[in-house]
Amino acid sequence: MILTHQQENPIGGTIPNMPSTHAELAKALERLLTPEAVLSGAAAERAYDCDAYTVDRSNPTAVVLPESTEEVAKVVRWCCDNNVPFTARGAGTGLSGGVLAALGGVVISTKRMTRILEIDVENCCLLAQSGIANKRISEAVKQFGLHFAPDPSSQTVSTIGGNIGENSGGPHTLKYGITVQHILGVTLVDPRGEILKLGGKLAGGPGYDFLGLIVGGEGTLGVVTEAWVKLVPVPKAVATALIAYSTIGDATKTVADIIAAGTIPAALEMMDRGILQAVRLAFGLQYPEGAEALLLIECDGEPETVASEMEIVKQICTRNNALEIRVAADEAERAKLWVARKKGIGAMGRIAPSIVTHDGVIPRSKLPEMLEFVYAVAKRQQIGVANLFHAGDGNLHPCFYFDDRDPDQIRRVIEAGEEILTRCIELGGSVSGEHGIGVEKIDLMKLMFAPEDLELQATSKRIFNDAMLCNPCKVLPNQKSCVEHQKRWRGTGW
Ligand SMILES: Cc1cc2nc3c(=O)[nH]c(=O)nc-3n(C[C@H](O)[C@H](O)[C@H](O)COP(=O)(O)OP(=O)(O)OC[C@H]3O[C@@H](n4cnc5c(N)ncnc54)[C@H](O)[C@@H]3O)c2cc1C
Repeated sequence: MILTHQQENPIGGTIPNMPSTHAELAKALERLLTPEAVLSGAAAERAYDCDAYTVDRSNPTAVVLPESTEEVAKVVRWCCDNNVPFTARGAGTGLSGGVLAALGGVVISTKRMTRILEIDVENCCLLAQSGIANKRISEAVKQFGLHFAPDPSSQTVSTIGGNIGENSGGPHTLKYGITVQHILGVTLVDPRGEILKLGGKLAGGPGYDFLGLIVGGEGTLGVVTEAWVKLVPVPKAVATALIAYSTIGDATKTVADIIAAGTIPAALEMMDRGILQAVRLAFGLQYPEGAEALLLIECDGEPETVASEMEIVKQICTRNNALEIRVAADEAERAKLWVARKKGIGAMGRIAPSIVTHDGVIPRSKLPEMLEFVYAVAKRQQIGVANLFHAGDGNLHPCFYFDDRDPDQIRRVIEAGEEILTRCIELGGSVSGEHGIGVEKIDLMKLMFAPEDLELQATSKRIFNDAMLCNPCKVLPNQKSCVEHQKRWRGTGW
């Protein structure tokens, strides 16, 4: 069946010049690229209707698979000429609905843009196409003793374009910083189809920092096609410990004490009982009897520094009633200790059909209070919750598990998320640490920012994206001169 765009647009807006059927649009794109570079029809629409935030969905009209900057520019220019919305998509692992084709239109997938274009070992940088998976960059330069430091837990599949879109973090960003600190330059196809070069091999050129706007722009300011990334030396020594606690309070107190002692581990991650149960079920991993929380702590750097930092960490853990402290003896054991953290969310897939992973930030000192609040909200809303998160950054990830075939469960999950994120703001934190705003948290922006702050952001967006065809209905809520977001997205899945 061929559906018209008007029939499918959940916001109900009209896009006047848009080709009237999916088939017409797909044919036009096939003429522009090749038939093999265009996906359309029911299966493609279903496969590309959401990211890893599955509560809200919207079908694209077609998906294109360009291989170069020039092909992306061709598609964007065609979209502009025909008034068709377009949205960049990497691996689709985003957790806030950023790749949702909110008004239908063309999804520009970077799936075929995975080439490394230059490795400059002397200047410690690398140029790659934006569809390359994060982890492949580090693998490619391992032989030179270098790596790309930002490491979202999705790094085996998530792309550098997506990492740039969301300004992603990861377990090691506590010490090494987030994506924006590691991007030197990008090639951007702007929302009019012009090819721009922002930054380059060398960091910190003069003039306004537009690169800083693009990183974290959630694909609303153009399509990144290539990126210069910074490489840093692989640490000489690494020590990893997994520490079990019988209470959440002891674990969170340890986090605060370690940072207060002036020690900044490379990673300081926390998992609660819900995650332990999921990982036990999925991988048969065993943790000490009575364990209610785990901390995963990694120190890296020069061997002597690592040894003394780990000694301090162990003392603080013992002082805070640790049940067990396991320190990895070698690389194989280290990988094993990381399993609960890296595969925790995946393991929850065995417990329930759907998961929504929230992303809020609070001052570290508020962690115990905030976790209590999360458990209380989940209990009142009668939904399951497990927590695994970047404790060192105060970046909380409550994962609600539920059955999305039941509309009432979806409603309760959404309400619970809003309560928790609102509380994060009240405690002096933020509604996003690393997963972006997308469509999920768009309404909460009004709680975080004053109208004039939002207007300034909207003005910056219009510099790039005046026609609002580039990833429409994302990041900024409806406001003066920004009328794209006409409908609350939440719940369109019910
Ligand atoms: C199991 C799991 C673990 C995760 N762990 C972490 C974590 O530790 N830290 C973290 O920060 N996130 C994490 N995430 C979230 C997600 O993986 C990151 O946001 C990631 O950067 C998204 O990359 P992607 O290629 O999948 O992007 P997508 O989901 O495809 O896109 C994300 C956003 O970027 C935009 N975008 C994509 N490509 C481009 C481009 N070429 N140009 C311009 N804009 C573009 C999209 O329009 C969208 O707005 C996790 C997700 C999962 C499922």
